[in-house]
This record gives sequence, C-alpha cells and structure tokens, in this order.
Amino acid sequence: MSSDGELYVIAAPSGTGKTSLLRALLARLDHLALSVSDTTRPPRVGEIDGEQYHFVDIETFRGGIEQGRYLEYAEVFGNYYGTDRSRVEALWARGRSVLLEIDVQGAAQVARHFPEACSIFILPPSMAALAERLRSRGSDAEEVIRRRLGEARREIEACRDFSWMVVNDDFDAALAELVAIVSAWPQRRSRQNAHVQCLLDEAAGSIT
Ligand code: 5GP
Repeated sequence: MSSDGELYVIAAPSGTGKTSLLRALLARLDHLALSVSDTTRPPRVGEIDGEQYHFVDIETFRGGIEQGRYLEYAEVFGNYYGTDRSRVEALWARGRSVLLEIDVQGAAQVARHFPEACSIFILPPSMAALAERLRSRGSDAEEVIRRRLGEARREIEACRDFSWMVVNDDFDAALAELVAIVSAWPQRRSRQNAHVQCLLDEAAGSIT
C-alpha cells in the first residue's frame, strides 16, 4: 500500500445499480479515481478504449499475467479482466485514492495482497427486485437473465468476506452510505497508529 493513497474495492451483482452509484461517488469525491481495467471482452456499443476498459487481446493479457503486470485478475463470463498494477501506482503517486470495480474473485486476491484495502459489496434490496431490474432493462433474453440471477446468488454467497455492505434500495441513501464509508476509512485505527505514536513521543518529550 502506498503511504497516502487508499485502495477501495467495490463489487456487486449485475443489476444492483453499481455503475450509476460509482459514477455519482466519483463525482462527489475528487480525491477518488477509478482504475480502468484491461479486458479481453470485445467492446460493447458506445464503449471507448481507455475509458470503460483497455481492450486487449488474449495474448497480450496472458503476457501480462506472466510478467506479473496484474495486481489481480479473473476470468468472468469467459473473458479475462485485470487491474494493471502500474496504473494504480501512478494514481497513488498523483495523490489519489484508487477505486477498483471488480468481481468477487478479484476482490479475494486484493484482500490477500492488500489487507488494508477497504472492500464494499453492494446488495439488492431483494432477489425479486434484482430480477425486476434486470428484466426492466429489456436488453437481455430470459435465459441470460436467469444466468445472471444464478451468478448473483453465487456472488452474494461470497460477499461475507467484504468489510462493508450497502443495500441499494434508495439511490440517494446508498450513495450517502458509500460517501460515508469511503470518507471514514482513512480514520481507521490501524491507519492512525503513527499519529498516535507521534502524540505520545511529543507528550513524553514535553513531560521530561
Ligand atoms: P462487464 O463485462 O459487464 O463490464 O463486467 C463483468 C464483470 O467483470 C463485473 O463483475 C466487473 O466488476 C468485473 N470486472 C471488471 N473489471 C475487472 C477487473 O479488473 N478485475 C476483476 N477481477 N473483475 C473485473
């Protein structure tokens, strides 16, 4: 972990409104920056290389794995996704805290390598509401929706390892909770130990 920048990991099943929440969170907190991942998935209509993802071919991705380029990576729905370590370090070097929007497998890798990372899982209010949201998009076939619901169940089963849970029932309330968690995280005890020690050293110096 860098001396200043924090690392935040946010995961959520598809259909929980994660993308809109994260966009609003990034707009609210200037010091927070999203790390743009590499993926072997082809761009969707409207996606621009370097904005939503860096779109790379499978050979490039495998080369990156061999060279240890990825802070974490995973195969999701048959495609590879990974966080380029150097992009995260570059953001830290510019004084930013970094947000990773990744799946639960990647989140588990981050937890192993960066125990000081803050992990947040966004939950739907109910499985019925999640199914309703997926259907109301109108973009996916029923079979795809059922697959996504099965995947959501597996992800929710894995969410116990996350430190924080935010239920996205009311958008503004969920956003306020995210802002509160991200803002409070640097004040955690383990992060403030150095300051406590400085105070004690100063106190010892002034007493003797
Ligand atoms: P999509 O293809 O719909 O943009 O993303 C599919 C899934 O891949 C989502 O759960 C998303 O959070 C996850 N994902 C995106 N980037 C990364 C990454 O760099 N690492 C991991 N482990 N998962 C990612």
